[in-house]
Amino acid sequence: MSQNSNEQEPKRERTPSTPCGKLRVHNGVQEGKPVDKNQFAGRTLGVFTSGGDSQGMNATVRAIVRMGLYLGCKVYLIHEGYQGMIDGEKNFQLGSWASVSGIVGLGGTIIGSARCPEFRERSGRLKAARNLAKAGINNLVCIGGDGTLTGADLFKKEWNSLLDELLEKNEITKDEYEKNKYLNIVGIVGSIDNDFCGTDMTIGTSSALHRIIEAIDAIVTTAFSHQRCFVMEVMGRHCGYLALAAGLASEADWIFIPEHPPEPDWENILCKRLQYHRLAGHRLNIVIVAEGAIDNQGNPITSEYVKKVISSRLKIDTRITILGHVQRGGATSAYDRVLGARLGSEAVLALMMSHNESPPFVIGINGNQPCYIPLVEAVERTKAVAKAMAAFEFKKAIELRGASFERNLESYIKMSKLQPKILVDDSSRHYTLGVMNLGAPAAGVNSVIRSFVRQAASIGCTVLAIQDGFEGLVSGLVKELEWKSVYGWTGIGGSLLGCQRIDAKKIGYTHIAAALKKFKIEGLLLVGGFEAYTSVIQLSEQRKNFQEFCIPLICVPATISNNVPGSDFSIGCDTALNEIVTICDKIKQSALGSKRRVFLVETMGGYCGYLASVAGLASGADQSYIFEEPFTINDIVEDVRLLKEKMKSDLKRGLLIRNEMANKHYTSEFMQNLMCEEGKGVFSARANIIGHMQQGGVPTPFDRNLGIKFGNKALIKMVEILNKATEGLPVNERINVSDPNSSVVVGIRRNQIVYTSVFDLLEETDFEHRLPKKQWWLNMRPLIRILGKHEAVYKSEVMTKDEDVEEFIEDRDEKEDENLVTLY
Ligand code: ATP
Repeated sequence: MSQNSNEQEPKRERTPSTPCGKLRVHNGVQEGKPVDKNQFAGRTLGVFTSGGDSQGMNATVRAIVRMGLYLGCKVYLIHEGYQGMIDGEKNFQLGSWASVSGIVGLGGTIIGSARCPEFRERSGRLKAARNLAKAGINNLVCIGGDGTLTGADLFKKEWNSLLDELLEKNEITKDEYEKNKYLNIVGIVGSIDNDFCGTDMTIGTSSALHRIIEAIDAIVTTAFSHQRCFVMEVMGRHCGYLALAAGLASEADWIFIPEHPPEPDWENILCKRLQYHRLAGHRLNIVIVAEGAIDNQGNPITSEYVKKVISSRLKIDTRITILGHVQRGGATSAYDRVLGARLGSEAVLALMMSHNESPPFVIGINGNQPCYIPLVEAVERTKAVAKAMAAFEFKKAIELRGASFERNLESYIKMSKLQPKILVDDSSRHYTLGVMNLGAPAAGVNSVIRSFVRQAASIGCTVLAIQDGFEGLVSGLVKELEWKSVYGWTGIGGSLLGCQRIDAKKIGYTHIAAALKKFKIEGLLLVGGFEAYTSVIQLSEQRKNFQEFCIPLICVPATISNNVPGSDFSIGCDTALNEIVTICDKIKQSALGSKRRVFLVETMGGYCGYLASVAGLASGADQSYIFEEPFTINDIVEDVRLLKEKMKSDLKRGLLIRNEMANKHYTSEFMQNLMCEEGKGVFSARANIIGHMQQGGVPTPFDRNLGIKFGNKALIKMVEILNKATEGLPVNERINVSDPNSSVVVGIRRNQIVYTSVFDLLEETDFEHRLPKKQWWLNMRPLIRILGKHEAVYKSEVMTKDEDVEEFIEDRDEKEDENLVTLY
């Protein structure tokens, strides 16, 4: 596999890698039963952050403290990592609700992190054990990288012998010895590098990617003015994840990553590619260099050297930007905040349910589902990647990184080529495919279309772009999109094709059929929200009346509301979520220095409460009101009471999020008035309807890269249906498909790309309210309440029943070949 060759790559042999699911611990550590308030009253736990910091650590610490308090535990914040543990008491702070207030979006870690050589020695660990035993802390959540977790594993293994020695030396009492006989440890990986095997994402990676993409977007504008080439160096140590994901999301001309060294004569090939881009009229180039980039002999490839090659050979004004620690800083992305909340809460629960024989484990995320990962195996597998690279076994290293890493790399290589690599011979049928946007704009749709167009071009298909949805189609607003015409589309917000909120029925089937016939469209991709979904249903149901509709009809869900059935996520919802969270941060900050104030923020989403709920979790809201979870006036009054109670302490701000359709009568205005009246003398209230800001913004890395995946998969499905339909069909004969499986929604469920027939989704859809009947994120609602100090019954998200775990693994293994993906 190379970034440049145009030859067809031989099919790779996959060496079996340990599927993450098989790293799962489900040995009864947790019973999966609902947990109640104060269920673990009297227990003690400690939390610390260690190694390099990362954004999202604070959100995690906040969740650990608050979930711990909810369960009735004493929670200690251990400052300065292992060093703080060794230095003792002064670093142990009893956590309170207020001590973790206002930190959810803050980068870094408020409890400090350190590298501690002393802890590597037994003498250091002895001191740490003494201090923990004295404070009665024998449950620990360790947040850090593989070093931190390796240290924790060793600590647990040695614990008994350390306590024996301390007792013998009279450094602890018999009572302290007995009370702390067992040490329970749960790890959470906090690292921007995403280099830990067994979890799809580590806490901080998403935020670091946000920083990188913000920087590249900013640099592109100045590079354009001066026709410069920028060599961007990004972090990641020996892992190329950040460089790869950033390369995909920014359409970089070239990436250097440690796992995939370039060919020996890469200097020539790189220059040829950059030159070609310039000849094609591009005014700038972006080259991304991972800090650990090497050639195939293991020699570092430095940004300086890359710059020298480009500037000396091409005489292009070339500059280096080393992003450095900027990537570790700044606000935490919505994804990292939610990840921190989910994993932090699960870690507390797992600790409370641990027993003497429980092995140390890590709470990770696999297919958008928190899971247990045995610490030792995961650390070993992580180290195996480094070993493979040291032995120049790069293919193995890539495989060990996981299937999704491989797919991302393949995708980058394919999409970044200078021109389409035609993979079919001339005798194959080359289809004409139509693509349109429907519904309100959602960031990331242009990325879907770029991906679809380039994948189609690479197999010789023609893509016709339809402007302004069905209206544009019947008015003849149709133009061909080629490989080159979609250059730069990935990072552009809004819809470049234009979109209309009018479904097929409203335009009229006869007109649509005539237009499809006129333009000889043999497959139609509809990128959009509920209108796109319903249009696929409408056209499919009219197949008996119009042969023109007997073509593959594929919907890629793209709407900020995230309300299209058939997918856990739709394109655009992550960007909207981040916009809302940023606005909430600003709103909260605006009250700094003012008197006590409660803000009510109204979000979009139609009847779907996704944005209100997840933004509530990510912005640390006190409550969020949604249509799916009916509430009464008594609930609102109770929330006012709770806010008043909270305001008696140091807290000065309250944040409530309300979905626009949460309740017909309890409008934002009504609720603001009610808050003002009931909060009189304690707090004032303000309402903010944030409106269309939520549909704007440049797409986040998540939406850009999910867009690439969806566009690619939509094309694959469309061509698969067409190839089946045209088998043995004379070239000029019209395509005639009417199979229900030729009308599909492309979606992501857990860690799989799935294609679901719209007919199978009918039962799952609440058409009146434009909602899927089952929504995965509703499981997170109790967590929002608990972290906002409300009563709720929390149910672990971790699958613990053997049959669920087996089904998950089987399900994944079956489809592993093509459709296994991670969200990012
Ligand atoms: P990052 O990914 O940001 O580097 P990390 O947790 O891997 O995070 P390290 O510096 O490797 O960072 O480890 C952090 C701390 O964990 C060390 O300073 C040391 O105190 C402890 N530690 C690491 N490895 C071990 C080990 N093998 N034995 C005991 N303690 C260890």
